[in-house]
Amino acid sequence: MIYQRHIPREELFSAQLEMLMQNGQLGTVVANTVGMVASMAIFWPFVDFTSIMLWGAAFLILLLLRSLQMSNALVNHSYRTHPKSVYWKLILGSAATGLVWASAYIFAATRVPITMQYTFLLLIVMITAISVGFSVIIREYFIAFLIGALWPIAWWSLVHYWQQPYNLLIGLVLLAFTAVLVVICDRVHRTFRNMLALNWERETMARELGDMAGSLRDRNRQLRDARRQLTDLANIDELTGLGNRRMVNTALKAEINRARRTATPLSVILLDVDYFKAYNDTYGHPAGDEVLQRLADIMQNATSRAGEVVGRYGGEEFILVLPGSSSPSAMRIAERLKDFIAEAAIPHGESDVSPSITVSQGIATVEPDTELMPADLIKMADKALYKAKASGRNAIVVEESLSAPLAAEA
Ligand code: GH3
Ligand code: MG
Ligand code: MG
Repeated sequence: MIYQRHIPREELFSAQLEMLMQNGQLGTVVANTVGMVASMAIFWPFVDFTSIMLWGAAFLILLLLRSLQMSNALVNHSYRTHPKSVYWKLILGSAATGLVWASAYIFAATRVPITMQYTFLLLIVMITAISVGFSVIIREYFIAFLIGALWPIAWWSLVHYWQQPYNLLIGLVLLAFTAVLVVICDRVHRTFRNMLALNWERETMARELGDMAGSLRDRNRQLRDARRQLTDLANIDELTGLGNRRMVNTALKAEINRARRTATPLSVILLDVDYFKAYNDTYGHPAGDEVLQRLADIMQNATSRAGEVVGRYGGEEFILVLPGSSSPSAMRIAERLKDFIAEAAIPHGESDVSPSITVSQGIATVEPDTELMPADLIKMADKALYKAKASGRNAIVVEESLSAPLAAEA
């Protein structure tokens, strides 16, 4: 389908998951690890070594597990095959990481000096703000972290407002900050998703246009082939594979013009099988067809020069167009043809002139200084052929000049 405007929902969802994991994997691990190291340094003098190390190790394992899960999903494409399951694992991982930060804060609140505690809170808020950038492509993923990390701290601070002077303020500010981040994240998320959809649409359209151009090229090729076949059908004689009368006439016209331009002679030989009706009657029509095919091959072998055309002019009449041939050289070709046909020795028991197939040939030539239309040239050759038949067949007759026979006829 061309010009599909909307990315399908499932496709968009998978693309979002892919993008989140590609960008979020490194961001999540780096931001949280840096935060973890910083907070270990903050707590170092105030919390016992074992608790710090246990917390650090547990956190690191959680981060590694999450990173591993993302890598696996990217490698085995489960974000395409099972997007829902990948989605929920991501959300759970994100919420769990947030909760680790919240519980660490609440744990620290009663054990470290208040300035350290606030520094730690600032660190958590910074990590949260930074993670908008790489996690917002799936809104819920960011919100899970946000709620997991900041809500418990906010509510704990509100509930324990009497414990420390700023707890009430911290609780309220954190709730407001969470709300603002949710709104911002929603805006940014929409922009990201639109970008993704637009990109998809552009790629799809480019691919479809490419496909369309390809099929147009194929269609063009098919049309060209069909046109060539049609031309062949219109110009080629089916039985012998030679050019038909139409093709010969076209070629003859072009060659006469060329002969006139280049002041060279041009000859045609008109050829008719002797006693062919009798052959058909004796040996059958299919055998007659075979004779025509063999004669066609012989004629093609007898002509070799560029521009020479052999055609089937009628039933058992053939024509040779010989550009550059004067009447003596056309005569030589006719003699050669006669010899080849005699050598072929196709038996013909009903012929009065020979025990094998023979042909009669009439030659006509346009000399460089004469103007002649194609039809006149054919008429001359036909006259010569008639004379060859009249002279007893198996003969070659050259029609010497245009004026005498045509004038005689007129
Ligand atoms: P002539 O020596 O005077 O030319 O005698 P002919 O019998 O060859 O002359 P005619 O014009 O009387 O007969 C031509 C024959 O050619 C008649 C027809 O059956 C045969 N013929 C024409 N086209 C075909 C063809 O495609 N196949 C076959 N087998 N015979 C054909
Ligand atoms: Mg005939
Ligand atoms: Mg004949």
